[in-house]
Order: sequence, then C-alpha cells, then structure tokens
Amino acid sequence: MTTGLTAPQLVWYAAGTPAPRWPLEPAAGLCATCGAEVTAGVSHELINSETFSQQGDFFQYGSHVCAACAWFYSDAKQRHRSLIAAGSWLAWPLISHEAAAADPERPSWLAALQHLAGLPPTTPTTGVLTTDPKPRLWPRMRLGTAATPAIYVHALDYDVSRVVRVDLVQLLAVITPITEALNRGFSKRTVWRGLLTDYRRCLAIGRAALDLERTLAPWRPRPEFVPALLIAGRTEETHERSHPGPADRQSQSARAARRRAPETGARQLQLD
Ligand SMILES: [Zn+2]
Repeated sequence: MTTGLTAPQLVWYAAGTPAPRWPLEPAAGLCATCGAEVTAGVSHELINSETFSQQGDFFQYGSHVCAACAWFYSDAKQRHRSLIAAGSWLAWPLISHEAAAADPERPSWLAALQHLAGLPPTTPTTGVLTTDPKPRLWPRMRLGTAATPAIYVHALDYDVSRVVRVDLVQLLAVITPITEALNRGFSKRTVWRGLLTDYRRCLAIGRAALDLERTLAPWRPRPEFVPALLIAGRTEETHERSHPGPADRQSQSARAARRRAPETGARQLQLD
C-alpha cells in the first residue's frame, strides 16, 4: 500500500485518508508541495489565500497540491505537531513523558520509537520531532524505514533543524546513559554540552560522573544523540506515578546509585 508514496501521503494514508477542508478538482502534473503525481488536487490559490505567508517555497512543483498535503494544510494547529508514521500506524507523540502519561491518545516519543522497534525493519516511516509547534515542518519530511527512520528534528536550543537519519537500535541504546545522567540531576543542556560543565555536580557525584561522561562523549557527534536527548526523561517523573515495570526498576537502581554517590566522594574525582 505504501509503495511510491511521498512522506505526507504515508501519513495521510495512516490517518485513514481524511478529507481536506477544501474541495478537490481535476488536476494534472505534480503536487506542488510533495511532488506526487496527481489527477485531482486542491488549487494552491485556495490554500494560499487563507493561511499563507512567506511559504511560497512549498508551492514549487505545480498549481495544485495532492489530497494528503491539502489535509496537512487544512489544520495548522493539529498538523504542525510532532508526528511519526510507520506503514499504517500513526502517532502524534509528546516529548514530555509526564504529559504522555496523562494523555491516553498520545504516546511519549520514547514509547513511539520503542513501538517502531517491533515493526518489520523495512516498514516505511516518516516523522517530525519538534520542540516548537509553530513552524510548518511537515513539507520537509523524508521517508525512512523502521530500522533507520528519517525524522525532521527541529530543536533550535540544540542547533538542529534538519532531517536526521538515525539507527533506531543506536538511538534506543544511548537513551540509557542519557537517562542515567538525568536521574543524577544533570540538565539536558548539560548532557548536551558535557557533564563537566556542571562541575559542582560532578564533584558531588564523584567517579561515576566521569565514567558517565566518558560513555556519553562519543555519542555527541552522532545523529542519534540530539533526538535521544530530546525524548529521554528522568525515570522517576515518568514511572513512579503509574507504570511500574522495568523502568521503575531502573529508577530504583538510580536512586540506589545516588545513595551510594556520597560514599565515592568528591576526593575521588580525578580529571585524568
Ligand atoms: Zn502532496
């Protein structure tokens, strides 16, 4: 069903081919936004007149957009959110684990990517992971697979706004040391810049902080690092309220590790 679909079309099919808010009319050529071949579409003049400013570059291939892109244009508030589609599965994930736990319809990004890991590796995927729902990012989506998703990552705090192709296994792997750093009280920004930039905390934790920094350092240049950092969360805030399970055990071990931390002592911190 997905062969030959553009990224917006993959999402639209997964959403159940909902109707756009404007009528389709016969058209020939390519979708002005995604480049799909069309036999019917929505004139970009209809869309342009109502909602557009400075977005002419998204109308580059022709005079009409396909039904999928028209559906995306139909509701900026809903369609500018983070999303991930894989085959016929679609989710609008939340970065905050706490918000996802309170929303039965929207999984956390971490849960969504864990779901992806259970799909056949060649399943076509696309997605947008954004910290800001304002910009229209979906026309920049590209296709990937479940094993190597192509995700448009927009996180200006971390200097990223581009399609990032990630190895899903690697991305889920780096979640573990990132989560450990968060559980030890480091901020995401510190995890991004380097744990030693929070020198006081490193002193308080001792040797384990240096070991953790050594684990994290080789990951920072990798494409998986920023998306993993965005979607990771402290296991306490995620799971203590409602979801006992493996992560809760992690949380307990993290608490145990923190209780042990003072014994290792600041005097053992060596910057060799
Ligand atoms: Zn299109």
